[in-house]
Amino acid sequence: MKLLTPNLYLNTIFELDTKKLKAIGIKGLIIDIDNTLTGWDSKHACVDTVNWLMKLKNEGFKICLVSNNNKGRVVEFNKEMNFPMVFSARKPRKTPFKKAIRILETDIYNTAVIGDQIFTDVLGGNRTGLFTILVVPIKSKEFWWTAFVRHIERQVIKRVSLKTK
Ligand SMILES: [Mg+2]
Repeated sequence: MKLLTPNLYLNTIFELDTKKLKAIGIKGLIIDIDNTLTGWDSKHACVDTVNWLMKLKNEGFKICLVSNNNKGRVVEFNKEMNFPMVFSARKPRKTPFKKAIRILETDIYNTAVIGDQIFTDVLGGNRTGLFTILVVPIKSKEFWWTAFVRHIERQVIKRVSLKTK
């Protein structure tokens, strides 16, 4: 259960309090793409999301996009923004998170993961020892498997929120 529990749970990325992140010493951000920054069926991020990412960058955060999606999808999404990226990442394995930390030149203790899935982003981030931030997925119109996983995730979130009340 602990490995599936995020340190922070947000309705959208825009709720992220960067002052709080800085207060706990976070310098690097590993950010998921699909359903975190954009819907799984949109090629690019919307203006608000691009501005949000640029704001983070200007505030001094180092950003690496880490996606389980393929090279074509990730490169196209990142074309205008040019962040470091890890594609075909195979989260929840630890390898892509460790690779991102090497790219960012940060450490496990000062890097956070932002993503929409408990079983890839949160589980992988927690296994690696990172600060984990779960956001509500932008679009949930997906394959039946994801629908099933989402169901489990809702159960986990319910339990977690009961515990923290
Ligand atoms: Mg995702």
